[in-house]
Parts: sequence; C-alpha cells; structure tokens
Amino acid sequence: MERKEAMSDDSQDFAGKTVLVTGASKGIGRTTAELLARRGASVLALGRSAADLASLKAAIGCKTIAVDLADLEATRAAVRANLPFDLLVNCAGTTALEPFLDLKLETFDRIMTVNAKAPIVVAQEYARARVAAKQPGAIVNVSSDASFVGVIDHAAYCASKGALDAASRVMANELGPHGIRVNTVNPNVTLTDMGRLAWSDPQRSEPRLKRMAIGRFLEPSEVAETILFLLSDRASAVTGASFRVDGGFGIT
Ligand code: NDP
Repeated sequence: MERKEAMSDDSQDFAGKTVLVTGASKGIGRTTAELLARRGASVLALGRSAADLASLKAAIGCKTIAVDLADLEATRAAVRANLPFDLLVNCAGTTALEPFLDLKLETFDRIMTVNAKAPIVVAQEYARARVAAKQPGAIVNVSSDASFVGVIDHAAYCASKGALDAASRVMANELGPHGIRVNTVNPNVTLTDMGRLAWSDPQRSEPRLKRMAIGRFLEPSEVAETILFLLSDRASAVTGASFRVDGGFGIT
C-alpha cells in the first residue's frame, strides 16, 4: 500500500530546545535532525563527513560537530565543548558483514566502540551535566531489531546493539530519579545507505521482506517520528523501553 508522507510541521514540541543528534550527516540521523528543526529545535549535528554536515547546516541552520566516534576521548571532549544541551539522540552507527567463522576481533572492537561505547560516553557527559544542573532530560539511543535476533553475518553488530539496549535500561533506572528518561528505538531495515549496504542482495532481502507485516521496508522518516515521540514530553511516562519500529517483523 502507498504510504502517505509522515513528516508534518504542525507541532512545535521542540521550540526552545537544543538537541544533540549523532549520525546527523546521513540517513536516519539526518532525517531526525531535519524533523527536529522543523518542529522548533536548535540542532547540534554530530558526524564525520564535512561535506554532509555543511549541506545539513545550509538546509536547517544547525551547529555542526565533526568528530570520529571511534576516538572516544575526542568524542568526550567534543561533547563537553558543546554542553549544555536539552535532549540527546545517539543515532550514529556502523556495520560490517562478516560470517561468524571469519569474524575479526578488530571488526568486533571497532563496531562495539562506535555503536555501544561512544553512545555511552556521549550519554554520560550529557547526563552528568543535566544532573549537576538539576535539569530533566531525555535520551533516545538508536539501536536495532538486530538486538533481538541473530542476523546472519552480523555478529559484531548484533552484539553492539544488544549492549546498547542493556546499557540503556541501566541508564533509565539510574537516571529516572533525576528526571531523565532513556529509551531505545529498534528499527528493522530502513532504506538508508546502511540499509541498502546490508540488504541490497534480493536473495537475502526477500525472505525478510516476506516477514514484514506492512509488506515493505521502512523509510527514515518513519523511524525519525518515533525518535521524536520518545524524546518529547508526550512520552513522559516511557523510560527503559526498547521500542520496535519493525513493520511487524517481530510478530510474523
Ligand atoms: P547511515 O550509514 O545512513 O548513516 C550513519 C551515520 O552514522 C552517518 O551520519 C555517519 O557519519 C555516522 N557515523 C558512522 N560511523 C561514525 C563514526 N565513526 N564517527 C562519527 N559518525 C559516524 O546509517 P543509518 O541512518 O541507516 O543508521 C542510523 C542508525 O540506525 C545506526 O545506529 C544503525 O545501526 C541504526 N539502524 C539502521 C537500520 C537500517 O536498516 N538502516 C536498521 C536498524 C538500525 P558520516 O557519514 O559523516 O561518517
């Protein structure tokens, strides 16, 4: 069935709020940054690609932060230099396709660093500042449904997203008394560069597509809308959740 474009501008839920979005240069993070700006936020856009960050800045007027999340100390310093901000979306992520029997530990370490350790470092700096200032907040960590299933050739990726989900539940528990909510969004295949890299082979994608109750893969805006919901006060009672945005994959 044809999908009606979901992005609308009628709410200004984020007026007056500054939101740091990692992975804002491309894909889901970029769409999230654009949607936040349309709903009133000032965006701090973190990514690596200078050209992509510059084009986003031209489009939405955000501040940009170029840093490699694989460098955890540089990441920590970059976040500190941009405090305070009101809300956080950890969206950056990376993957590599390696069968388990050939999985290299360097691959495992790199993916764990970018997908699990870096969001923890960013969240730690953000939350320390919020707690010290006695300010509430919200964090959305973009995980994956790969956290719940064993996707072939994705051992490092699945492990990194499982780690992110588990750490997010602890953050939700410990930061809840400080008024800071923490949730993950767990999307299924979303048609971004990363989604196409992992799912461009029809032999691989067709069995998965058959299990999508909605009959198709996801658009970045559909994931971004869920991120914004969980980030907003509309989700004031939701914390510690791993929220599936999976087109029904999990129930088929
Ligand atoms: P893209 O490949 O389109 O974009 C990835 C983003 O992450 C880019 O902005 C990229 O920045 C940034 N990034 C990657 N590595 C680094 C790094 N070392 N340092 C700084 N920034 C980095 O990915 P998607 O939009 O598809 O994915 C976004 C999130 O959604 C990821 O966490 C992914 O795991 C998750 N996800 C995606 C799914 C999909 O099917 N697409 C499904 C489930 C979850 P730059 O390009 O500037 O280097």
